[in-house]
Amino acid sequence: VQERTQQAQRMESLGNLAGGVAHDFNNILAIIANYTEFAIEETGDRPEVRADLVQVRTAVERATNLTRQLLTFTRGDAIQPRNVSLNAALAEVQAMLERTIGEHIHLVARPSSVPLTVHADPGQLHQVLLNLAINARDAMPEGGTLVLEANTADLDGNEVNMQPPLPAGRYARLLISDTGEGMPPEVAARVFEPFFTTKPRGKGTGLGLATVYGIVTEAGGSINLYSEHGVGTTFRIYLPLVDAPADLLTGGQPSSPPRGD
Ligand code: ADP
Repeated sequence: VQERTQQAQRMESLGNLAGGVAHDFNNILAIIANYTEFAIEETGDRPEVRADLVQVRTAVERATNLTRQLLTFTRGDAIQPRNVSLNAALAEVQAMLERTIGEHIHLVARPSSVPLTVHADPGQLHQVLLNLAINARDAMPEGGTLVLEANTADLDGNEVNMQPPLPAGRYARLLISDTGEGMPPEVAARVFEPFFTTKPRGKGTGLGLATVYGIVTEAGGSINLYSEHGVGTTFRIYLPLVDAPADLLTGGQPSSPPRGD
């Protein structure tokens, strides 16, 4: 089951990346299609050139259809940010991890004492938490403690080591902390790069944290990493607080079930 969670997460990361690539690729194809059209018009009395260009046009059309399919498949278009309860997302990921993470890891979940609403896609929020939790697990092969925490933080806008920097204000904060092997500075400096991995071939894709970074920054948030080699790693994720109750308590369930008894 553990393997399956990891596999699903890897596939989702890959899907996100493929979606992004497909989107950019589609734009490039549109340019090629345009210029091919111009060139066909300009061929004049050179039918053999025209025939070649028609081949190009057919190939571009096929490629466009393929990328369109890929976009639908990866649901890149289906990202739906909503007002989500951070505590509910935390509880759901906690429940999932309790079933899958293994006996050797002591899982501690500390939800916030007050409701916290953030504007994000609930599936992506899960993905962020899961990606970080799975990395934490991988960093503790001999066991250890994984803490998941939600609370608030007041930022003064001068924080260092925030990627990217955030304006001053009050934010929702997610903390994911492990007592694992930690990272040397040269690894910590590169972890958000796509395809950067220190895991053996076939085990790591290097896309987990790149995906986390993309989701968090897309939601207007920021991420902070503190790691000490041999001691452990803490990720802090800051997201803009929404001053409203959550539309969604859990991944897909309406927060206020229809009343009336
Ligand atoms: P992957 O997990 O496929 O390697 P990631 O982007 O999720 O890709 O992580 C990149 C690298 O960052 C990992 O290979 C590992 O070296 C390092 N890393 C990430 N999280 C942790 C952690 N909690 N503890 C130690 N190292 C970590």
